[in-house]
Amino acid sequence: MARVFLSAPYMGGNEQKYIKEVFDSNYIAPLGEFVDRFENSIKDYTKSPNAVALSSATAGLHLALRVLKIGDGDAVLASSFTFAASVNPIMYERCEPIFIDCDESWNLSPKLLKEAIAKSPKKPKALIITHLYGQAAKMDEIVEICAENNIAIIEDAAEALGGFYKGKALGSIGDIGVYSFNGNKIITTGGGGMLVSHDKNIANKARYYSTQAREPLLHYEHLDYGYNYRLSNVLGAIGVGQMEVLQDRVERKRQIFDIYSNLLGDLGEFMPEIPNSRGNRWLTTLLFKEKNKHLKVIEALNKHDIESRPLWKPMHLQPVFKGAKCVVDGTSEDYFSRGICLPSGADMSDELVEKVANIVRSAL
Ligand SMILES: *Cc1c(COP(=O)(O)O)cnc(C)c1O
Repeated sequence: MARVFLSAPYMGGNEQKYIKEVFDSNYIAPLGEFVDRFENSIKDYTKSPNAVALSSATAGLHLALRVLKIGDGDAVLASSFTFAASVNPIMYERCEPIFIDCDESWNLSPKLLKEAIAKSPKKPKALIITHLYGQAAKMDEIVEICAENNIAIIEDAAEALGGFYKGKALGSIGDIGVYSFNGNKIITTGGGGMLVSHDKNIANKARYYSTQAREPLLHYEHLDYGYNYRLSNVLGAIGVGQMEVLQDRVERKRQIFDIYSNLLGDLGEFMPEIPNSRGNRWLTTLLFKEKNKHLKVIEALNKHDIESRPLWKPMHLQPVFKGAKCVVDGTSEDYFSRGICLPSGADMSDELVEKVANIVRSAL
């Protein structure tokens, strides 16, 4: 049997047909009809009026900082409990990160966010808020705090396409939202990302920077410097096919979560879903009662050729960010010491999920 991954690519069926259309038209790259169609389907799904297809979510977060004119020494608040890609763009722009711990939601603590703002000698310009594992952060409180303090909100919804908070798509709530279509995300184009915004000027600016900041002239004229961050039409075609099955993938991931939580609920706590939200359950994640048990479980699953992993190691504990400012209370550090990501591919059968659950139980 093939190795079981945390969340393997899972094509819907039409992707190859659309790729063939791209080849037949010879609009392989750079842009073309399928990039537009992919952007339109993200706009429809998330109810974001503007979307820009990009080469990655990391590129989207980088553009978000550029467009908001955040750079050189500016203070940027960020979730500490996340993947490094959320915060690497803070370094690209030579800003100063301030890492904030999570609370019982596993996502950013509004209480510590307030504390971080009050403590910071410099007024922070933006917050990069992650919706961890596709589950919503406490956006009402976070939006209110940021509005009071005139802090822009950049939603890292890389893991959270298909998740909602109070009926709003995660990623569509702040000033700018970013999705990822990397290989292990809920849908994938092999590699890719999307920036969304309610503000047309923000989206247009991001599009401009993503294509080398070219002026609309016959010759190549540049008033500013940009990047090569656009998505190719071939990958746009994969994205259009994947969007057709996004909702199926969300429903299946939620079923997989239900199976695990029925079978393993006595072993610890699963990541919660905060009131008025519906996450995509990109990965089912579980905290065991005791520290380091997860390492035994990971080893046992690996012996059966099944991938599982510890939770993200918080940014304030990463050697690269040693000495960076942080406002933490030990919550994410505790979760990191006893939490596991279970294989959650939407293509897993019920039997396979049950098999994984049995191995987890017997390893303990
Ligand atoms: C995957 C991921 C990213 C980066 O996405 P890319 O498209 O690979 O750049 C950023 N943030 C989080 C939380 C992620 O999980």
